[in-house]
Amino acid sequence: MFTLTQFPLPYATDALMPYISQETLETHHGKHVATYIENLNKLIANTPYESVSLMDIIKKSATTPGQEKIFNNAAQIYNHNFFFDGMCPKCTTQIPNEIIEQFGSAENFKEQFKAQATALFGSGYTWLVRDGDNKLKIVNMANADTPIVHNMKPILTLDVWEHAYYLDYKNKRADFVDKFLDNLVNWDFVAENLKQ
Ligand code: MN
Repeated sequence: MFTLTQFPLPYATDALMPYISQETLETHHGKHVATYIENLNKLIANTPYESVSLMDIIKKSATTPGQEKIFNNAAQIYNHNFFFDGMCPKCTTQIPNEIIEQFGSAENFKEQFKAQATALFGSGYTWLVRDGDNKLKIVNMANADTPIVHNMKPILTLDVWEHAYYLDYKNKRADFVDKFLDNLVNWDFVAENLKQ
């Protein structure tokens, strides 16, 4: 039987301070993500989904009518894992060349990413993806939607659900986006994703 367990954070819950507080990280990872995992394990119990991978659960439930709950919980687990892996304390500030080349400069990339992240209405994620045409694109996806069901390769994501920043930034999402881009992005993780 397939039972999904909580994935560990790649750093301590106080490691991203002062940009993300320990309370936010403990709530976000320890409560929100834990709930998605608990929900998914209940939803797939005694179904064919029990014997497949998380990736396959996401892909199959995305195209099967009536399985939105399974999709939402499974995709949220994947999206959060990707978001948390995309940050680190005291990371390199070296933005990969491909990003600089495609967006013109590091500043342009950050500006475009911020414009998307602040424009996203409601809950969702801003993603840097490699699209089918091999180009890098910054796209917004609502709620639990995820690039892996749109034939896009995820490179980096920012969770802009209110639970991701409200304790620390209140309504100032733009400030959260700035801190993320300037101080939190794990550019080594991004570079690895660009290679594959
Ligand atoms: Mn979240």
